[in-house]
Amino acid sequence: MSGWKDNIRQVVPYVPGEQPKIKNIVKLNTNECPYPPSPAVEKAVADYAKSDLRKYPSIACAELKDALKKTYPVTDDMLFLGNGSDEVLALCFMTFFNSEKPVLFPDITYSFYDVWCDLYNIKYKRVPLNENFEIVPEDYFVENGGIVIANPNAPTSIFMPLESIENILSRNRDVIVIIDEAYIDFGGSSAVSLLEKYDNLVVVQTFSKSRALAGMRVGYAMAGKELVDALEAVKNSFNSYTLNSLSQAAAAAAANDIDYWQDCCNKIKATRQRLIKELDALGFDTLPSSANFIFTANKNIDAKSLFEYLREKGIVVRYFNKPRINDRLRITIGTDEEVNRLLDEIKNYIKR
Ligand code: PMP
Repeated sequence: MSGWKDNIRQVVPYVPGEQPKIKNIVKLNTNECPYPPSPAVEKAVADYAKSDLRKYPSIACAELKDALKKTYPVTDDMLFLGNGSDEVLALCFMTFFNSEKPVLFPDITYSFYDVWCDLYNIKYKRVPLNENFEIVPEDYFVENGGIVIANPNAPTSIFMPLESIENILSRNRDVIVIIDEAYIDFGGSSAVSLLEKYDNLVVVQTFSKSRALAGMRVGYAMAGKELVDALEAVKNSFNSYTLNSLSQAAAAAAANDIDYWQDCCNKIKATRQRLIKELDALGFDTLPSSANFIFTANKNIDAKSLFEYLREKGIVVRYFNKPRINDRLRITIGTDEEVNRLLDEIKNYIKR
């Protein structure tokens, strides 16, 4: 009687960092921005909410594209927008990875990549990072059905120089190479500058980190027109209105306030530098970070036990119980006050 069970798709989903309800929490586990979005965002959302919610959202997203063009040397037909960069990446996988050959990505990287591959039955191969947790470009000079690289990588926080990206691109002209730049505004330089030269490149970015709009779910891809057209066709075969009107208004306001979001990035970079220095003094070994988080270990401290201790104190960071990285914690850069509370509790843990 329950033969329908055989027809149900079985998947193992991605598990995002938790959003716990703890009083006075110091939330350093999902790489959100510790500062609020630009003050212009609140007004833009309130104004839009008063006027046009009766209508479907704009498909052209003209206002948002105009705002993005102030930062990036792209044209409207090189921009593809979506409901968070997770959705944009998922649509990229569906659109661009249709080969029998495996898609390549690092063994330690954003753990959504293999989930999308499994969802769409895409073959994939994990390419090990070297002993310093770096991507080795030469490892990608092999036959493949496409490449995805997070740059800076997550959870390692390490940025790979553009020359290395270009090496990978030039040796892989027959497949699509996706560079996931969720954390690019915290220290790296964007591969957008390579779009002119490489028609097989897709650069994906988000409003969730540097623009402090994780709750609005806005992400985008930048690529040549042909690739953007292919993405649009797949998206429009699935859901024409992935990006709602309020998110469009919020993101346009945030992107237009360039000074504000760059100032947030500078504050985060300064706090990051201080945190790394203070952790150094406590015997931690922190990977060189170009992101709004750090990935740190201390050979005298069990990472899981420190993670649990901090959680009891209301400080939530991220621990991955996975080979090669189960001795480390990923810690989002918070405000200076939050980082002070974190450091105080780490010192208390060491003193016990
Ligand atoms: N890529 C990477 C590497 C990430 O860490 C994240 C955040 N979890 C995303 C993409 C997705 O971000 P969002 O969907 O909020 O744009």
